[in-house]
Amino acid sequence: MADVIVIGGGLAGLASTAALAGAGHTVRLLESRRFLGGRATSYEIGTGEAAETIDNCQHILLRCCVNLLDFYRRLGVGNEIAFHSEFTFIEPGGRRSVLRAGLLPTPAHFTESFLSLRFLSLAEKMAVVRAIQAIRRQYARRTDLDRITMQQWLEEQRQPPRAIERFWRQVLVSAINEELDRMAALHGFQVFRLGFLGRKNSYEMGVPAVPLGQLYRADAWRKIGNATIETSTPAERIVVENGAVQAVATAGGELRADYYVCALPFERVRAVAPDVDLDLAGFEHSPITGIHLWFDRPVTDLPHATLLDRTIQWMFNKGEGRAVQLVVSASRGLVDMPRSEVIALALRELAEFFPEVRDAKLEKAHVVKEIRATFSARPGLEARRPASRTNLRNLFLAGDWTRSGWPATMEGAVRSGYLAAEAVAEAAGKPGRFLLPDIA
Ligand SMILES: Cc1cc2nc3c(=O)[nH]c(=O)nc-3n(C[C@H](O)[C@H](O)[C@H](O)COP(=O)(O)OP(=O)(O)OC[C@H]3O[C@@H](n4cnc5c(N)ncnc54)[C@H](O)[C@@H]3O)c2cc1C
Repeated sequence: MADVIVIGGGLAGLASTAALAGAGHTVRLLESRRFLGGRATSYEIGTGEAAETIDNCQHILLRCCVNLLDFYRRLGVGNEIAFHSEFTFIEPGGRRSVLRAGLLPTPAHFTESFLSLRFLSLAEKMAVVRAIQAIRRQYARRTDLDRITMQQWLEEQRQPPRAIERFWRQVLVSAINEELDRMAALHGFQVFRLGFLGRKNSYEMGVPAVPLGQLYRADAWRKIGNATIETSTPAERIVVENGAVQAVATAGGELRADYYVCALPFERVRAVAPDVDLDLAGFEHSPITGIHLWFDRPVTDLPHATLLDRTIQWMFNKGEGRAVQLVVSASRGLVDMPRSEVIALALRELAEFFPEVRDAKLEKAHVVKEIRATFSARPGLEARRPASRTNLRNLFLAGDWTRSGWPATMEGAVRSGYLAAEAVAEAAGKPGRFLLPDIA
């Protein structure tokens, strides 16, 4: 069995660690921050009685995220994810529509609730159904899906503007964190193929019932073989000789292993591993903004809802309807807006969906602008995403930006971690399969 050092304690590095340690290898994980989870984490804000633990942003998954769920099972925290089988769409003014699976078998399982949606006309719904059928037909056949944008494909399918805005955009911008006219059609196809056309329950939305950081807590790691987690330990640089990594330089000295996994975000890799041949041209970021609001009284009775026709895309109820978290994906328009204006915009918009907001007093607010939230899933990028193997024979890459087969998501990060772990295990002469196949 091999000694492995994993650099980076986000989901990719954690998944590599869990898979390799679970298979009997000895793993040492180095994380620069005080806590684990990288971009999918939580931390405390405020002090004393006003202290709150918040997620850096609400993170959700779908049941089709089979590798992420496998990772949670390995840590013994699978039951900390609450699954929801209803999506509520709300129009300004408050009219609600609910999408849920009905009695019909897949792929017709949404028929009853889809036809009852009030925010699309019958003609718009029929157009959407036609396009979803086209996704099933075209997925395996078309070779240009990474070259065109989802917007181009929807226009090619003659989707009415309101169906694009209220259905396709509403679902996909949050799922991929990119606008339809910047996102490769390939990714839009995947969301519908796996989430909506896969198994009957694969669309169900998982919401962590505890702050994200608690999912990776220390006692969970005790269950997993020989893994040592070292937080507050940044890797400064890898030391390379004769085409292989000899050590990782840290403030405490050089650390050695047989194999190394670099699970850093793409913008950090060059600084730590300058000897890795990488072509990062074409990688750019897309931002996400999270707005946390605390009111003096409940403003909603829903666990979550997607909000139509406005800047705010999602509302999550974080506590008795009084604490809500709002999410705006691909939030370029908010990046330069002062935080006070973001909060004022959020309150104005929220009141259009939940009239209770008008009478409620805002007690606290916190805005998190994640400028480097994910890579932008632009056409042409898929072929540029690197696989786990590198030009250095004992160094492997992981991270949501590597070639995971998924866009930048928690599932994509875990997949990349499992793929890197498979590459390490194979190089160590103990091949193993960690990656679970997609459900469709
Ligand atoms: C605001 C926001 C909302 C999101 N919402 C969702 C969602 O709802 N659903 C979903 O599936 N995905 C969501 N994502 C995407 C998801 O969080 C990421 O795709 C995933 O967490 C990336 O994991 P990673 O391990 O590849 O990278 P990271 O999480 O970035 O991990 C890299 C780690 O490396 C560490 N590091 C950096 N430099 C060093 C160094 N020198 N030495 C040691 N360690 C170092 C970092 O501290 C970090 O912990 C969201 C992302 C953001 C930012």
